Amino acid sequence: MKVCWNITSRCNKNCQYCFKFNKEDLSLEENKKILNSLIERDVERIAWSGGEPYLYKDLKELLKISKEHNILNYVNTNATLLNADNLKENIQYVDRLIISLDFIDEDLNSQYEIGENYFEHVKKILKLVKKIKPEIEIKINTVVFRGNIDKLEDLYNELLNYDIDCWKLIRFFPIRGKSLEDNNLAVTDDEFRKVIANFKDRKQNFEIVIHGLKEMKERHIIVLSSGKLVYSEGGEDIESDDKLI
Ligand code: SF4
Repeated sequence: MKVCWNITSRCNKNCQYCFKFNKEDLSLEENKKILNSLIERDVERIAWSGGEPYLYKDLKELLKISKEHNILNYVNTNATLLNADNLKENIQYVDRLIISLDFIDEDLNSQYEIGENYFEHVKKILKLVKKIKPEIEIKINTVVFRGNIDKLEDLYNELLNYDIDCWKLIRFFPIRGKSLEDNNLAVTDDEFRKVIANFKDRKQNFEIVIHGLKEMKERHIIVLSSGKLVYSEGGEDIESDDKLI
């Protein structure tokens, strides 16, 4: 079983296309019980997500326990809380670091409320991660939406300069939260088809994965920051009666 665990719904950014859930956070002791339930269910991989997972102060302890049970730890982060001083301890138990990056243009990062000088910061982290932990995988997640569909080539060319493993292009899809406020961010089927045609057969030192509506609608399991289990399928969230805590 593979799950996405939204360990916190808090975030230090305010991206316009965000579709995070808004739920309360649990204590470390409560989350340890949830982790034990997942271990008992033979979970193979946890994608720690949010909100911003590094805002959850006990994340490292949960990652450590998870790793001790041979679970693959993916962390889905905006990287803003990572820096040269804390990177080593923050990625110690991480198998794959997934960093969100939609623009290299800092004006657009500000315009879409992703953060001032966001790319400048991500660049520094990208250069450091594999120096500290060579075996870690780095994945860049890019949400394809109205604001960056004509900027993807610039981003691709920039990514060629870094030692990353995968670039995932995810079509914006308004599911919940802030993403529902402004549907103008969505791109059309034709526009997204052109993105697929443009990038699918390229050869470079990293893999390109393209995630459209079909993949977005596939069933996936989410553990909410409240501990509830949700099956998200076809763009709908179905809360399970199955209790993890
Ligand atoms: S998309 Fe991610 S980084 Fe942006 S506000 Fe939502 S949780 Fe935070």
